[in-house]
Amino acid sequence: MKRATQPAGPPADFLAKMQALLPTGEYDAFVAAYDRPPRVGLRVNTLKISVADFSSIAPFPLAPLGAWEPAAFTVPDDTRPGRHPYHDAGLYYLQDPSAMVAAALLAPRPGELVLDLAAAPGGKATHLAALLNGPGGGAPASALSRTLDATGLLVANDVHAGRARLLAENLARWGAVNVVVTQDEPERLAAALGPVFDRVLLDAPCSGEGMFRRQEGIEWSEAIVAACARRQRGILAGAPDLVRPGGRLLYATCTFSPEEDEGVIAAFLAGAPAFALAEPPRFPGFDRGRPEWVETSGKTAAQLARAVRLWPHRFPGEGHFLALMERDGDEAGEPAGAFPRRPSSANEERLWAAFADEALSLELPAGRLHVHANRLYLLPRRAPAVGRAHLLRYGLLLGEFRPSRFVPAHDLALSLNAADAASAVSWPADDPRLRAYLSGADLPAAELPAAPNGWTLVAVDGFGLGWGKRAGGRLKNHYPHPLRRL
Ligand code: SAM
Repeated sequence: MKRATQPAGPPADFLAKMQALLPTGEYDAFVAAYDRPPRVGLRVNTLKISVADFSSIAPFPLAPLGAWEPAAFTVPDDTRPGRHPYHDAGLYYLQDPSAMVAAALLAPRPGELVLDLAAAPGGKATHLAALLNGPGGGAPASALSRTLDATGLLVANDVHAGRARLLAENLARWGAVNVVVTQDEPERLAAALGPVFDRVLLDAPCSGEGMFRRQEGIEWSEAIVAACARRQRGILAGAPDLVRPGGRLLYATCTFSPEEDEGVIAAFLAGAPAFALAEPPRFPGFDRGRPEWVETSGKTAAQLARAVRLWPHRFPGEGHFLALMERDGDEAGEPAGAFPRRPSSANEERLWAAFADEALSLELPAGRLHVHANRLYLLPRRAPAVGRAHLLRYGLLLGEFRPSRFVPAHDLALSLNAADAASAVSWPADDPRLRAYLSGADLPAAELPAAPNGWTLVAVDGFGLGWGKRAGGRLKNHYPHPLRRL
């Protein structure tokens, strides 16, 4: 889809529909919001750095978004935060502020089993991964150290192959060990795992009415809205097969049409009496659901009002609909069986140990190393069996075995700090050597502190960015080709 600095704005048919729904004064405010540029939201990766520490090194002014998420900010849109090396190192995620409300409302807690059913490209999944590992803070530590022994687990899924790969890349940048990425239809996941999740997010594919200010060329019609609503009802109907009794389910869209929002929830509640809407905490700009926009009974109407609507004229974001539901009962679930670990062969063990001795200063538990298709993974501490689910990533990818050597993965570099590496070079964000590294150049030894040959972690201000290998008087660049800056 083409991006333009000034999208044409919402289609006339859509505006006519909103005009019929909203009172006059409110409709005027809603339409006026389209004349203002969208806000750039930035969420700090608390697995890598505390909010206070990030605020002290942030290269751009940060404006807090609210008490509902202390790690959420807006930044001026001319600061190009996506181009800064801290972004490459996964210190933050750029996201529409209203999208940040979803994980904050679902509020996973350490130790829980969490599912993001439609997770690509991973904005909300990265947020869930951070919250699942606690509030951050304390002594500086890498994402790997913080999540190594975590008992919580995030399963992030998307049905589309290309999008699921992008999801895995964004989660790699986030650095957590306790994350699994799958690419499956929800029914297949339910068959593999069952109703065991403490928290499930369904950020449903929708008509995207909240994206008109950001993207040009979004096609819109009542027929598209109706087709989206049918699809959403179908996906949501499978949720009872995934949420445990006593668990929570959050349904979210970035669209305003009642058919895709209150209408989908009303249909779901009618067929799933074990679920009821919870009353989430309310912060400035959190409006209520609009039961009067759909046909419902009185009891359901009262529940629908508990949903949250974020409007672009009342909240500093593009708009979202969020319905937080609770399943009655109280039964902590656990998937049957443990993940079938395939340990490394004696030769693989030798290659890994040689790399770990040379390059790492932290020790990883040998009993959690798993080999699949010549790739070595570090399994999460809680590692349930996933049956026939289609896995893209199970835990942290450490690297790959080649015939006579081990090559470390970019994912591993992104989960480390300079202190975790036996050999590291760390430069400030504006150092020309860092710019040269990010562009793919090799670096002459004269530019580096003295150190033995071998794998070296390259870091920005101590945060792992990628690998280099010292040999023949230079640092050979192993920054992934697709990420290099020309
Ligand atoms: N949660 C994502 C984020 O915060 O970055 C955005 C999700 S987007 C609104 C909806 C996603 O649903 C798309 O990535 C799409 O590929 C996926 N999707 C569509 N149909 C699906 C299905 N039946 N099961 C799972 N995912 C599906």
